[in-house]
Amino acid sequence: MYKTLDIYIYSDLSTYHMAINLPNAPDTIYAGARRDANIIGMVNPLNLKIAGYSYSDYMKSIVHELVHVVEHNINPNIPLSLDEGVAAYESGLDNGVDGVMARAKSDNKFPSLNDLQTDPVTFGKIGGYEFSYSLVEYTIKTYGYDKLLAFMKKPSEFEKVFGKSREDFEKD
Ligand SMILES: [Zn+2]
Repeated sequence: MYKTLDIYIYSDLSTYHMAINLPNAPDTIYAGARRDANIIGMVNPLNLKIAGYSYSDYMKSIVHELVHVVEHNINPNIPLSLDEGVAAYESGLDNGVDGVMARAKSDNKFPSLNDLQTDPVTFGKIGGYEFSYSLVEYTIKTYGYDKLLAFMKKPSEFEKVFGKSREDFEKD
């Protein structure tokens, strides 16, 4: 476990996007926790104006990034969907989850866990945050926190944790 946490505040979105090497990132990427160090970077919330987001959403994002720090200390190689799903669920930042899930249900089109293992920009575009939120909510409600934690620690031991194959889990 790391002992300290550094928080870097960036003056505006473009400065932050340059710093994380994603100059074309969408506005919704305005904060992040590094996996290789206990460092959170984020844009000054007083300098953020993103359509559909409120100041309280920015505050929830800080909780979201703090959850990432805990997750990365549990498992630095945690898969992106689990990493983002737990952070989204625990911070209560659930903008758009219902809409994305309703659309996926009516189209009967859900990404697989593999589809969600991608880069952060693509992840956001395919509804990764919303699907991951829903996945974690389902896991907690169906299996409980202990199983979720076991899954976070050893994502490869899928059958041992859930007593079913990854394919059957995805169908559920
Ligand atoms: Zn995140």
